[in-house]
Amino acid sequence: MPASRPELVEDLVTLGVRSFKVLEAMATVPRDRFVRHDLTARAWENVALPIDCQQTISQPLVVALMSERLDLEEGMRVLEIGTGSGYQTAILAQLAGHVWTIERHDTLLCQAMARFAELNLENITCRLGDGSFGWPEEAPFDRIMVTAAAATMPQPLIDQLVPGGIMVVPVGGTVFDQKLYHVRRFDSGHESHAFLDVRFVPLVQE
Ligand code: SAH
Repeated sequence: MPASRPELVEDLVTLGVRSFKVLEAMATVPRDRFVRHDLTARAWENVALPIDCQQTISQPLVVALMSERLDLEEGMRVLEIGTGSGYQTAILAQLAGHVWTIERHDTLLCQAMARFAELNLENITCRLGDGSFGWPEEAPFDRIMVTAAAATMPQPLIDQLVPGGIMVVPVGGTVFDQKLYHVRRFDSGHESHAFLDVRFVPLVQE
């Protein structure tokens, strides 16, 4: 029996997600609208699923934990690298003021934009291209989320954070050696620490 929406939210609580706002966003955004049609029945399982262009929609637990660590507040400006299905984007859009998101696959970006329109998510701006260097015209951002694994800590993205800003980013050269990092920028420099072992598709630099 595939899991249901309330069962998934219960699982997230059991697995350590504490933020009420994040749990509420996970309960609100219809994940079944972000998965491939043949996988709709599995949309509420706590697993990553394949999407087009050999990419994946992230595991709900990872989406929730990353969102929680971003410590979002109403009105914040958020940059996301790796739109994919648009599911994480939609969660961020519930929790922040505006989300700028960059995806390198046209097919995925078009599908995600259609979903945002259907769900009336109006606080999202999309761009097609390589997000490795951020979105300088819109910088600085209060928060940055990267949903593809960078080989090394991406300094150009740190530079686009406001002082005190936070980025959550998977870093690691191979799928067997990736960790999620919490990065905080200061007036000069930054501090970072790893908090979770993860497996993301690679951040492709063009
Ligand atoms: N948060 C998404 C995860 C998608 S997987 C979801 O839950 O659906 C990561 C995405 O990052 C893929 O769609 C991939 O195409 C994209 N990506 C990889 N490298 C990129 C880059 N340099 N710039 C923009 N997008 C990139």
